[in-house]
Amino acid sequence: MRVGEGLGGLARLRLSRGELGFVYFEFSALAVSTAEHRLLFDPAELVRREEVSAWKPHLLLITHEHFDHLEASRLVELQRTSGGTVVCNPGSYSMLKGKVGKLVQLKAGGSVEVEGARITGIGAEHPAKEPLMFLVESGGLTLFHGSDSSFTAGLEKCRAEVAFVPAGAPSPTASVEDALRMSRTLGCRVAVPFHCSPDEAEEFGRKAERELPGVRVVIPEPGKVYKI
Ligand SMILES: [Zn+2]
Repeated sequence: MRVGEGLGGLARLRLSRGELGFVYFEFSALAVSTAEHRLLFDPAELVRREEVSAWKPHLLLITHEHFDHLEASRLVELQRTSGGTVVCNPGSYSMLKGKVGKLVQLKAGGSVEVEGARITGIGAEHPAKEPLMFLVESGGLTLFHGSDSSFTAGLEKCRAEVAFVPAGAPSPTASVEDALRMSRTLGCRVAVPFHCSPDEAEEFGRKAERELPGVRVVIPEPGKVYKI
């Protein structure tokens, strides 16, 4: 359900346990609110400091150090404005060390708890330094963020109610088929394709209708607020 615009709109959402609101930007940049936390993923240069002052994230999560996921000076600004904790893969950690106040390095298979949210790192398949995907348990649900990875064996033991799945361009590792396999393996009830072209998002939607019965697909329009 679309219920508003931008991070200001997301800040006004009222959420009960098990509910989730989100705003999608581009690539894997995503803002998520649960009943208990505000989570900003891979903002790159796509999220402005002024927007974050209206919706202060508790957590800034970075999957890997590529430009479409991390822009170090912008991240420093976003962290200062929000006061949130940065949780990131080793490649991003080397770029941010000494620049960001609250910085936590996470490795594949590792898990950390920040302000009551549990974040688990899953090894991603992508040409970066130990890139990650994330599972986050918060506000009575588990959500998955797939960065721009292909499917990996580490996902076999993971479950998530809501899955943000990379479906293609401009990643050499993500694809519609990998996104379908991720959604099926995670047993999600809602799948949101991202990091892809509009055609790939449509293709994901068509195939999911046939191959993933019972899974609701939300194709996100950038900047809109969705409530699940
Ligand atoms: Zn990417």
